Amino acid sequence: PLPATVIGIDIGTSGVRAAAISDNGEVVALASTPFFTAEEGRTPSIWWERTSTALAQLAAKASLASVGAIGIDGTSGTVLALDRVGEPVGAPLMYNDNCPDGDIVEQISRHAPADSPAKGASSALARAIFLARQPGVSKVVHQADWLLLKLGLREAATDENNALKTGYDLQREKWPDWIEMAGLNRQLLPKVYRAGAALSRVKGFAAKLGFATTCRFHAGTTDGCASFLATGASQIGDGVTALGSTLVLKLASERPINAPQYGIYSHRVLDFWLPGGASNTGGAVIKSLFGDDRLAELTARLDVSRPTGLHFYPLLKRGERFPFSDPDYAPRLEPRPEDDAIFFQAVLEGISAIERLGYDRLVELGAAQLKSVRTVGGGSKNPTWTRMRQAALGIAFTPSKSTEAAIGTAALILQWQRKNQ
Ligand code: ADP
Repeated sequence: PLPATVIGIDIGTSGVRAAAISDNGEVVALASTPFFTAEEGRTPSIWWERTSTALAQLAAKASLASVGAIGIDGTSGTVLALDRVGEPVGAPLMYNDNCPDGDIVEQISRHAPADSPAKGASSALARAIFLARQPGVSKVVHQADWLLLKLGLREAATDENNALKTGYDLQREKWPDWIEMAGLNRQLLPKVYRAGAALSRVKGFAAKLGFATTCRFHAGTTDGCASFLATGASQIGDGVTALGSTLVLKLASERPINAPQYGIYSHRVLDFWLPGGASNTGGAVIKSLFGDDRLAELTARLDVSRPTGLHFYPLLKRGERFPFSDPDYAPRLEPRPEDDAIFFQAVLEGISAIERLGYDRLVELGAAQLKSVRTVGGGSKNPTWTRMRQAALGIAFTPSKSTEAAIGTAALILQWQRKNQ
């Protein structure tokens, strides 16, 4: 194999994964250290322990001496407070924790611009403000930022993707003034860099692992953006559908779109924008209606040549945000066919139609015309459903190169280097 030149590390929901790639993007080595319980996944000391173990595993498989860059992606919106020496103060607040103090959410909505992604109960900024109020806090950082500090980075740094939901202004490239009015001293936030950008030379822990002294830390990204890049999507018009518990669409575009009423916000990655939206439909509905152990049997009995015509809108409970906004929207799963295979087909047809509506909505709001679709997540493993979705979207799908976010982060850094060095 070619020598490893870039390492990407992914702190996901199920564990830490590390990938080493060569100069031409080929994967040289992979390592993986799972979280064994949900509690482990929310414990910073465990994040660090698994990260250092994954790196040690990688070092056993590929020489680190040729590696020139290392970067990290983390779960989007997970934040923690640090003391003067960079150790956590109290527990972190995770990507899916609501801010424990509703007044903070209200303060933000009063001061943030109408289309800010930092608004709402799930705001990362609200979590950051809450954590900053503890005694002895000298920085509030994202999950990936903290792990770069543990690896040896001296000054807290983050990337635009992690910073987006913490209120960072991508147009002016600064933490905006209104953040102070919402209750946070901006000095507590890390400096922000473009995703994938070079930071300082490796020091501290990383320097002792066997990296060359010329190797640099790089700003990383979020797990969502990293997954997009891992698929190989990189051109304007490339769409990626994540068919996991929920349905999440991202479409590489020339312009950003911010439409908070639809939950649509836009990351900036390399030289394109990445608007995306998440529907409440998805695999969680399939799992609750049929159970994952029946999917193979039901899939074998699908008859794609005979659409059910039932026009279902599969949801677990009332309420939809994207592709349209209606907090009271009722699930449509009736009349329930007697044959579960027909019921299953109608549910898959319904989700496929929502995917179509979602891409149409992104394009209508200013995203690029959809030119290709790649799929990640559990639903991508169903080839019959894939055919149904291709028909609904009227487009042939492109296979994903990889679904490893760690590879996406390494690829991001490699592309940043090509464009900037
Ligand atoms: P998460 O978003 O939780 O990471 P995954 O990407 O692991 O989810 O996808 C899991 C979801 O995919 C489950 O809800 C499951 O019902 C669905 N799924 C898994 N296999 C299939 C299949 N063959 N056909 C349709 N849906 C599937």
